[in-house]
Amino acid sequence: MIETLLTTRDLPGSALAQLLETRDASLAQRLKDCARKRCLEVKGPQVLIRALIEWSNVCRNDCLYCGIRRSRTDVPRYSLSPDQIFECCDKAWRDGVQTFVLQGGENPAAALGLVPVVREIHKRWPQAAITLSLGELPFETYAALKEAGANRYLLRHETANPKHYVSIHPEGMRLETRLACIRELKRLGYETGMGMMVGSPGQTTEDLVQDLRLMQEMGPHMIGMGPFIPQDNTPLESYPAGSAETTLRLIAILRLMFPEANIPATTALATLLPGGKLSGIQAGANVIMNVYTPQAERKKYDLYKGKSDV
Ligand code: SAH
Repeated sequence: MIETLLTTRDLPGSALAQLLETRDASLAQRLKDCARKRCLEVKGPQVLIRALIEWSNVCRNDCLYCGIRRSRTDVPRYSLSPDQIFECCDKAWRDGVQTFVLQGGENPAAALGLVPVVREIHKRWPQAAITLSLGELPFETYAALKEAGANRYLLRHETANPKHYVSIHPEGMRLETRLACIRELKRLGYETGMGMMVGSPGQTTEDLVQDLRLMQEMGPHMIGMGPFIPQDNTPLESYPAGSAETTLRLIAILRLMFPEANIPATTALATLLPGGKLSGIQAGANVIMNVYTPQAERKKYDLYKGKSDV
């Protein structure tokens, strides 16, 4: 099975489900080892480090899982000033980190306001890659940010099952809208990232297989996945967290399906599993995102409980 996945980059849905669900620990280990080996062959021995700058937690959206959802009134809101953002970039650059990831709540007006900030970052650090993760925005804003110097955009699809998508998002949010944004980002020439939360309430193994199929259809350059982790004072606060092991198996499967993709070992994985970033690398991930948000604001970017800040 693993051999077929390695050579054909594909498997029937039933075999993918089996790899995700198997209790055979040695099969799961072979899957991860094979993915790690493939990663070394294709991407080389380097682990790429990204500087995550959580620039604002102001959000118009009300995603049921998210700790910075609009309805969560117990979270103090902040946005970094342009100078604070430049300071984060400067610190990262001095550490030898050459990709800056600006992430934040969905706030179209503020995103448009980032255009001159992105332009300035591009001017000061012309060698750096600028990645954005700002949610669903008007297509003109995506274009303006690209023109200002942004190269990459992360927009997780969260789940490929439209009904499941509706069940974990507020009224009016639809998977189709999200996918239209992802297609537009690709069309504009962004390196584009997708991905899902693993084990969000109501998600089935079939849904995860559908996630894999969707990504095969869309061809993302980057794939970010983390386990769902419940956050207090959100509608999903009492649901169990997703599985770190399933997340690791998905990393491995995706490395074999998309040998060239950049796949991070995410903070959510590290939050749930001690040493999770290393485990992610050992399962085929090749990217680590280090938090460069100023210490005073970190606690306010409170996506899920116990969020690790390394
Ligand atoms: N506003 C941006 C960034 C969202 S935060 C956007 O819409 O893309 C980045 C990611 O954190 C989300 O895409 C989601 O997958 C993840 N996330 C949010 N809440 C979470 C939770 N409770 N557990 C695990 N991951 C979560």
